[in-house]
Amino acid sequence: MAIVYLCLGSNSGDRLKFIEQAVSFLNLAENIKIVRTTALYETEPWGVKNQNWFLNMIVEIKTNLKAQDLLLKCLNIEKTLGRNREKEQKWGERPIDIDIIFYDKEIINTEILTVPHPRMHERAFVLVPLLELIPDFIHPVLHKSVSELYDDLQEVENVMLYGTRGMLDE
Ligand code: AMP
Repeated sequence: MAIVYLCLGSNSGDRLKFIEQAVSFLNLAENIKIVRTTALYETEPWGVKNQNWFLNMIVEIKTNLKAQDLLLKCLNIEKTLGRNREKEQKWGERPIDIDIIFYDKEIINTEILTVPHPRMHERAFVLVPLLELIPDFIHPVLHKSVSELYDDLQEVENVMLYGTRGMLDE
């Protein structure tokens, strides 16, 4: 069984419902067992700023699916939840996004899949939740721990526990 970290994100429609549904589809999938999840975070959009904030969370799963098959499973769940990639702008609004962040310590570089996720180390919305679960896990390509990658971040977009956004404004 491989231990895998998936990052879920949603920034359109009923974001909470999309995240919940993605978790329950993963839970129902044969060959996937959810081990633990992080808290839910609300995060400033990355890339294209002028859009809704995202909800993000990381899910730790155990699976005997190969990485490619797991990717197909995730893409299928995205499709079932109404995602239509043809209509989307890069880094634009999406009902649900499921990325494979780590698949054990494997390094995968195929046409359809790059693991560890090639941009995870630049993104606070991935690193902040990951710190909850595996701060000492060593990135197999960069040879740094998750906490070191977080310390190295150049640009930290806002990542807040869901429900706390706006509390500091008044
Ligand atoms: P996005 O539109 O940002 O969700 O990109 C999804 C596409 O990126 C998928 O169709 C995959 O083929 C590709 N991809 C490459 N590496 C990964 C990864 N580690 N996790 C998820 N998708 C990936």
